[in-house]
Amino acid sequence: MVFLLWCLVLQRCRHLMLKDFVVLTQGMRHTCISSAHQHQPGASTAITHAYRTMLSESAVAMKSAAGGTAIPQGSELINEQLVSHLAFYQARGEASPAAPFEADPFRTMIKNRSAEKIPLFTYVYHEFGPERIDGWAKLSREQGDFVYFVLGRVFVQGALIELNYEFSALEGLGGCRDQPAEQYYPFPEHYFAIDPELAGYVGSLARARVGRANRYLAYGAMLRPAPCEVIGEREVELHYFLYHVGTDFSEYGERGSMTVPAVLQSAWRYRDASVAWMFLNVALEDRRVYVQIDLPTLANGSPRTWKLNFYQGDDLVGPMGTLTASRRIRLDLPARRPVLLEAVPIQT
Ligand SMILES: [Zn+2]
Repeated sequence: MVFLLWCLVLQRCRHLMLKDFVVLTQGMRHTCISSAHQHQPGASTAITHAYRTMLSESAVAMKSAAGGTAIPQGSELINEQLVSHLAFYQARGEASPAAPFEADPFRTMIKNRSAEKIPLFTYVYHEFGPERIDGWAKLSREQGDFVYFVLGRVFVQGALIELNYEFSALEGLGGCRDQPAEQYYPFPEHYFAIDPELAGYVGSLARARVGRANRYLAYGAMLRPAPCEVIGEREVELHYFLYHVGTDFSEYGERGSMTVPAVLQSAWRYRDASVAWMFLNVALEDRRVYVQIDLPTLANGSPRTWKLNFYQGDDLVGPMGTLTASRRIRLDLPARRPVLLEAVPIQT
């Protein structure tokens, strides 16, 4: 098994674009092989320093232009040297093979399941690193149901969902349509409608993100997931239609399927206050799972008794009793709606 860390793609030294007070820097690696510049060819230290200087000076200039308000800066890709200088980055790696760009070199391996992603960058940097935007999704039914897995994984692993309309049209709404001639990329004319089921799914994830789960998904430190036994089919086959890429992309128009886990999970600690496990069943039917929850540990000690709460979306479904030792817990997961199991210390 090969593990991919496509969040760790390095950046290049050029291209600055100002869009509505948000700066995007595009790039691949911190190298420059030009012999006309005042650095050695390939000098990554010099390029990194130049990048940091550019971002710092841009931040000062934008804050001044905005009357003293700090303006968030982001990049398309990120590396560790820029973690402290960026507020967000736009990745698309989690959508592969239903997207081009970051994960494309591993496309064949992802499709034949000899490679999978592990969220190492999130695991190490999430609680103080920049926000990730990922998903490369549309709201159409025609793109296929693989998007439920893609956006579900983006969500449970603490990133913001991205709906992208650079290389294909907005879905039609109220008789209104995108005109390709008015876009920066002359995309083919695919005019699809908004899928209300998918829109409902995206809405449920967005509401959860700003609700109870926010403290974990936005500010939490990622923990190891709990052992989880899924009752019934543990995997589901989902389909994709790749039309939201440039027509020069080698697999433009590809139709395919991916077999993926039916139940996604992540675990989080919020400061030294509480811990939580986020679940998302991407199958069409409900799934029952049994989760083995061990006593959590906080930096300031190990509380003896925890109260367990169970949330569907942002609604408290009910208390789940207490946790005083390792406990096997049954959860019934609704189809395609997020669920949160939270443990809050009540006796230290
Ligand atoms: Zn250079």
